Amino acid sequence: MNKNLQFLEIKRMDPKVMPVPKRVKNYREIYGHYSTRNAAEQSGRCIECGNPYCEWKCPVHNYIPQWLKLIEENKLFEAAELSHQTNSLPEICGRICPQDRLCEDACTLNDGLGAVTIGSIEKYITDEAFKKGWKPDMSNVRQTPFKVGIVGAGPAGLACADVLTRNGIKPIVYDKYEEIGGLLTFGIPPFKLEKEVVLKRKKILEGMGVEFRLNTDIGNDISFNTFKSKYDAVFLGMGTYTYMKGGFNGESLNGVHDALPYLKSNVRKLFNPKNNFIDMQGKTVMVLGGGDTAMDANRTAIRQGAKKVYCAYRRNEENMPGSRREIRNSKEEGIEFLWNMQPIEILGKDKVLAVKFLKTKSQKTHTGDRGIPPLVIPNSEKIIKVDSVIIAFGFRPNPSPWFEENKIKLDSIGRVVLNNDSQYSHQTHNPKIFSGGDMVRGSDLVVTAVFEGRNAAQGIIKYLGDKKKKK
Ligand code: FAD
Ligand code: SF4
Repeated sequence: MNKNLQFLEIKRMDPKVMPVPKRVKNYREIYGHYSTRNAAEQSGRCIECGNPYCEWKCPVHNYIPQWLKLIEENKLFEAAELSHQTNSLPEICGRICPQDRLCEDACTLNDGLGAVTIGSIEKYITDEAFKKGWKPDMSNVRQTPFKVGIVGAGPAGLACADVLTRNGIKPIVYDKYEEIGGLLTFGIPPFKLEKEVVLKRKKILEGMGVEFRLNTDIGNDISFNTFKSKYDAVFLGMGTYTYMKGGFNGESLNGVHDALPYLKSNVRKLFNPKNNFIDMQGKTVMVLGGGDTAMDANRTAIRQGAKKVYCAYRRNEENMPGSRREIRNSKEEGIEFLWNMQPIEILGKDKVLAVKFLKTKSQKTHTGDRGIPPLVIPNSEKIIKVDSVIIAFGFRPNPSPWFEENKIKLDSIGRVVLNNDSQYSHQTHNPKIFSGGDMVRGSDLVVTAVFEGRNAAQGIIKYLGDKKKKK
């Protein structure tokens, strides 16, 4: 086969997806795995265009064409080694990155021919390499005497720990939850990311020298000053956990839930069936919001056996922030979307009975209608009867009381402001403290949190190296 025309003869083929009637009855990941042959063929579709836009659009700038070539040539361990040079959680990003607006959107073949299945191949590389016994090569690491305390075992904290340990610096990662992963474990549902994948990564990181101290809330179980005094530098990757509200009547009625506690309770029940959880079985549910969290709530309610799930969003479908793939999956699983609907009140006395909306229309500009509130159409009220409402309006930071005394500066919405005058990447205004992920950027993506955690680790390595030289 002519290599340059392989993309014409071999069509894009995603891994098999579980049929809808089966997948809504369980919480397993809905996408299957490539065989070695499928992975090689799909990798071979890359035309090596010379200007890899995919690499630029990928937030961690993965060496995509190079590892595709290695998989085409069946060099799995080399591909795994290369993939880990830029990404600390490749098997996770391969599963849950919105590839349709990142790497695959930028693929030269994404022009009617079908982009290379970059995400699925990235997932294949690490899953398969782990299965065959591959581990990151730590044989050349020279240990230093430095120790870094990390607050938060989410993607940012894990990525920071990964880079530090590969550079001989001991990371000790604290989290207030009972398991690592942050939102990977206690947010994103298992049908997108099975928890075994995160636990496998935990084992790998522990094998590389990362130490975890779980069930430990820094600031409560240990004062921040005591914590800070134990380490040569500190990284904060604490995420954003203030739930946004709609500001209308009825939000505190019984039967109205914030999306994250709802999703978290479902995961905890899957960990241990004796745990209490918020159950939507037999209910008519209204999910308010249009992002990934809303899609996850929709699909969880369906799996719990909800009678009917509506998802209402105040703009049109085109302008929904959720990944296209997740919107498609929600539709397939039976969610009824109500676009251009602005909730104005949740009705009920002791408990929720209905949601009142006004219809909206988009205000189009040359850049679309993102960022501009849609126009509410007067006298367009609509009331929809429901048993439960799940609010998924996004998250804001939740700065800790000890930030101020530690000179950690914040912006007007509570995000950590990095010291732009510093020569050390991701340093805050307190030289010993570095930060990254959602608490710096605002709620975003796993891959951007990974990028920031890795960059912060580079900042810490340089900071500690310079400190040593000055001694
Ligand atoms: P987090 O993942 O929030 O981790 C922060 C950690 O810090 C938590 O474990 C927390 O317990 C810990 N912590 C906080 N304070 C303390 C303290 N004082 N002491 C000890 N520990 C502390 N992104 C995608 O790319 N794809 C998706 O499909 C996707 N789906 C999502 C679905 C949902 C429901 C949500 C909520 C988010 C989703 N995201 C998705 C976004 C993504 O999960 C986040 O951007 C990412 O997890 C941020 O990583 P982080 O490390 O900054 O924070
Ligand atoms: Fe694509 Fe995300 Fe992987 Fe980058 S990390 S190549 S954006 S799936």
